[in-house]
Amino acid sequence: ITTQMTEAIKVRGVHRRFQLGDQTVHALNDINLDITQGEYISVMGPSGSGKSTLLNMLGLLDAPDEGQYWLAGKDTVPMSEEERAGYRRDHIGFVFQSYHLVPRLSARENMELPMVLAGIPPAERRKRLEPVIKRLGLTERADHKPEQLSGGQRQRVAMSRAIIRNPQAFLFDEPLSNLDAALRVHMRKEIRALHDRLHATSVYVTHDQIEAMTMADHVVVMRDGVIEQQG
Ligand code: ADP
Ligand code: MG
Repeated sequence: ITTQMTEAIKVRGVHRRFQLGDQTVHALNDINLDITQGEYISVMGPSGSGKSTLLNMLGLLDAPDEGQYWLAGKDTVPMSEEERAGYRRDHIGFVFQSYHLVPRLSARENMELPMVLAGIPPAERRKRLEPVIKRLGLTERADHKPEQLSGGQRQRVAMSRAIIRNPQAFLFDEPLSNLDAALRVHMRKEIRALHDRLHATSVYVTHDQIEAMTMADHVVVMRDGVIEQQG
């Protein structure tokens, strides 16, 4: 049997432009990027340099105006909006700075939501959920609503929700910027350990240089929609 290495993420000549009044913002300007399965990359760059636009495209929340993007060998450009949503739900774990939890649901229900949407039966949901809750130290807080949780706990709930379906790709958009410094150090170790254990493919956007340098296998630096440096 021959196994062929496919790039987890392969981006070629991608452009994304936004129209703001009579001005065109070139948010992504000829982006090329290769990430292999198991790799952890950080994306750095000043505010407005295109980091979130890139991440949204990688996470199929948005599509390029021009260029090509293969995710796990699958050409994503021809996908319909519906296919895109389905693929995102099944294969992508997103973690945002502002958590994006559903306020009226408990921590447990928030984590369960992707499995409910995927039609996984309750017994199976519970079986998968309990070890994740335990591992992230959320046992005591599982039945609380997001507003009753600290920032760190909310971000752990968001992380649990992102990993619960074993996605192929983890996408983090400045997930720790709302937390205090001590907690950031702790949680970035947690995130890296999670990545290693799951042999995931992770893209981690941050404006914190130390965070980028200490966590990632490679750092990509963006400026004005261009990848300026890759190392
Ligand atoms: P970053 O995450 O690095 O701060 P973004 O990717 O959010 O940067 O934005 C890159 C550029 O694209 C910015 O100039 C921003 O104003 C613009 N932009 C991003 N999203 C939109 C949008 N939906 N509509 C108009 N302009 C946008
Ligand atoms: Mg951003």
